Amino acid sequence: MHHYVRSGNEVLRKRGYRLTPQRHMILSVLQEAHDHLSIEQITERVQQRNPYVSLSTIYRTLELLRELGLVRENHLLGEQPHYEAVESQAHHHLICRRCRATIHLDDALLGNLHEQLQVQYRFHQMTLDLVAAGYCDACWQYLQQHNLDGESSTATAETEGTQDA
Ligand SMILES: [Zn+2]
Ligand SMILES: [Zn+2]
Repeated sequence: MHHYVRSGNEVLRKRGYRLTPQRHMILSVLQEAHDHLSIEQITERVQQRNPYVSLSTIYRTLELLRELGLVRENHLLGEQPHYEAVESQAHHHLICRRCRATIHLDDALLGNLHEQLQVQYRFHQMTLDLVAAGYCDACWQYLQQHNLDGESSTATAETEGTQDA
C-alpha cells in the first residue's frame, strides 16, 4: 500500500471511518495520477476498476476526503474544480493561460515566506496557495513566432488561419 493511501487509512480510522473499497480506489486513483483530475477523469478511472461505483458515491467520497484534508480541491483560473492528493503542506501552482499546463512550484523557492507572513501580519494557521498565471515555454515560443500577444491569441489565431488559406 502506498504511503499516501496508508496515511489516508489512518486519518479515516482516527475519525471513525473505514477504508471502504470506494475510498481506497479514489485515494489510489489520485495518488497514481500525480496530477489534477476533474470529476470526469476520476469517475472514468474509478469505473475502469469497478463500473458499479456511482457518480454520487464519488462526489460524497471526495467531499469526505477533502474535509479530512486528504484531497485538495483546486479552482484554477476559474475552471471547474480539479482534485489532487494532499501529500505536503504548502502547495503552489504555475498555470499556463494557453494550454492550461500546471506546474507545481518548488516550495524551497519561497524560503520562509510562510513564517514571514506570520510575523509581519500576525496571521496564524494559514494555508498558503499561490497561483501564478502566465505562459509555459512552449506556448510562449509559439506566441512569439506568430507575433501574438497572449491575451488576444485565440481570436488572432483564427483570423490568421483564414488569411493563410
Ligand atoms: Zn502552455
Ligand atoms: Zn497541484
